[in-house]
Amino acid sequence: MPNFGKKSSDNLNGCHPLLRQLFQMVVKKEDCAVTCGIRDKEAQEKAFNEGKSSKQWPDSKHNIKIEGELSTAVDVPPYPIDWNDLPRFYMFVGYVKAVADMMDIKIRCGADWDMDGWTDDQKFHDLPHFELVKED
Ligand SMILES: [Zn+2]
Repeated sequence: MPNFGKKSSDNLNGCHPLLRQLFQMVVKKEDCAVTCGIRDKEAQEKAFNEGKSSKQWPDSKHNIKIEGELSTAVDVPPYPIDWNDLPRFYMFVGYVKAVADMMDIKIRCGADWDMDGWTDDQKFHDLPHFELVKED
């Protein structure tokens, strides 16, 4: 059974408990890596400048505003990581969505920001990105 390595576990530990529960379940059947949980100011600006994030500090859900807060976003690509195998990413997103639905955890994926089920109606594709949707 796949499991998270040290780096992935450390990254996931910076995330909201619901994200931790979700991806601990996902990794049992679909190997994956947690490449980013909390992103500090420097890391956020770097991600923005490299086009990997559409947000600047502190507007990303990876950014925490107060010490001890947890990230409500996480970046999880399927493992081993092949950034060029986009169909594999979409399959993985579908799997994560199904597991999240079964666990009753509401998430938004960077493959479908407006959550309408279509992936071709958006400009910024962030395929490894998952974030919690706040219910209010
Ligand atoms: Zn992200």
